[in-house]
Amino acid sequence: MTDAFLDACRAAVGSEHVLTGDQDTAPYLTDWRGRFTGRCRAVLRPADTAQVASLVRLCAGYQVPIVPQGGRTGLVLGSVPDASGTAVVLSLRRLQRIRAIDTFNRTMTVDAGCILYDVQQAALEHGLLFPLSLAAEGSCSIGGNLATNAGGTGVLRYGNTRELCLGLEVVTAQGEVWDSLRGLRKDNTGYDLRDLYIGAEGTLGVITGAVLKLFPQPKAAITALVALASPADALELLKLTESHAGPTLTGYELMSDVCLRLVASHFPELPQPFPERYPQYALLELSSHESEQHGVALLEAAIERALEAGVAQDAVVATSIAQSRALWAIREHIPLAQAAAGNNIKHDISLPISRIADFIDATDARLTHAYPGVQVVCFGHLGDGNLHYNIAPPEGVKHDEFLIEQAAINRIVHDSVADYGGSISAEHGIGALKRDELPRYKSPIELNLMRAVKAALDPLGIMNPGKIL
Ligand SMILES: Cc1cc2nc3c(=O)[nH]c(=O)nc-3n(C[C@H](O)[C@H](O)[C@H](O)COP(=O)(O)OP(=O)(O)OC[C@H]3O[C@@H](n4cnc5c(N)ncnc54)[C@H](O)[C@@H]3O)c2cc1C
Repeated sequence: MTDAFLDACRAAVGSEHVLTGDQDTAPYLTDWRGRFTGRCRAVLRPADTAQVASLVRLCAGYQVPIVPQGGRTGLVLGSVPDASGTAVVLSLRRLQRIRAIDTFNRTMTVDAGCILYDVQQAALEHGLLFPLSLAAEGSCSIGGNLATNAGGTGVLRYGNTRELCLGLEVVTAQGEVWDSLRGLRKDNTGYDLRDLYIGAEGTLGVITGAVLKLFPQPKAAITALVALASPADALELLKLTESHAGPTLTGYELMSDVCLRLVASHFPELPQPFPERYPQYALLELSSHESEQHGVALLEAAIERALEAGVAQDAVVATSIAQSRALWAIREHIPLAQAAAGNNIKHDISLPISRIADFIDATDARLTHAYPGVQVVCFGHLGDGNLHYNIAPPEGVKHDEFLIEQAAINRIVHDSVADYGGSISAEHGIGALKRDELPRYKSPIELNLMRAVKAALDPLGIMNPGKIL
């Protein structure tokens, strides 16, 4: 049977880039964590912006839903199609060009399909830093980073992906190309359309290119792990270090002892930094533009004050790159250890930093009251007010069986987040996974404004339908 739409797509990008066979499309249909597999009419693989625009015009003409896809590392089911099989997956992976690097403007212009790691390396080759950094950096794409407004470990100093972008190239839902790749740090000429497309999770248009902000490469990064008695002390230490080290503090992560024990049991080869155990730990990273000695001196002075004030219980400062990597490895292995332990109920939440300690105490209490023995695996980017607050079953309960409690546990945690003035998605987005939670936590006026934006920019509703709204 001929399919006029697919024939037109083949004419636009070449038959080999219109995938329809089950084996060919399978790698594009399952989410990263393997929780959901959708179906699609085809996977389309354009090579450049012009081809993206042609395909979107065809989709608009035939009213075919489009699911934009980058590295497919998103964690909220945003980049996989639903089960209907009506949508096409529009893969941006072939858009891989680094278009330009301007060392005076400190910007890099890239295709949306560029892998984050490649962008970091290209900046490094020019002695510059692109500071977005996350554990999926070897697979995720800049387009996906922008569409999810990704966070990562450098937000405290450099901001989210939104703050790292000075311009976009977007194929609109009508298939027009909007080019704002100017790299301006100031441009107050009306509504900021760039900010609408960033964080829209592919529901408004397709990002095909971006101008990214680059920074001077620090001379040295120094890491320390500090043992603490409580989350409240972690906040004290953050305040103390910020006042001491100012903007040189580039990372501040919190991990509970539950996290360290989990890592130790699944990755016994990783060193345990302290002979004794403490309830909480903070991982600090300080970047010096002067020298390693300068950075070490700053960090040691801050930690010494914290020890004197009784805010810190113990500390290790890494004296080599290997030691620093070993400390970061503990933090990076927490999600891996959790995955090895089995399924758990995840929350990516943000709170005003000042309320984090109270939130943890109150929410731990609410959960253990409702589910005695439950394990709270709490870690995250404390310096940004972002916690990964994940819940594992009590001893003796199977991880998969415990998932039956997911909705009830989400309710306890998200209601508590709302009570403390926080957000139910800090950096992963809404996608399809949290869509039905949104109406409970956003005001009707906010949702109506979002629906109005969607209707104005995507009147046919073909851009990633069923995601966010
Ligand atoms: C191990 C691991 C660690 C992670 N750590 C972090 C972290 O620290 N911080 C964080 O924020 N996230 C993290 N993530 C989540 C994920 O990596 C980010 O959301 C990333 O930005 C997604 O990029 P991607 O290219 O894989 O996008 P995809 O998964 O392909 O897509 C994500 C969303 O963006 C849309 N999209 C993709 N490309 C485009 C485009 N060109 N135009 C328009 N829409 C598009 C998709 O439709 C989808 O809605 C992590 C994920 C993993 C697996």
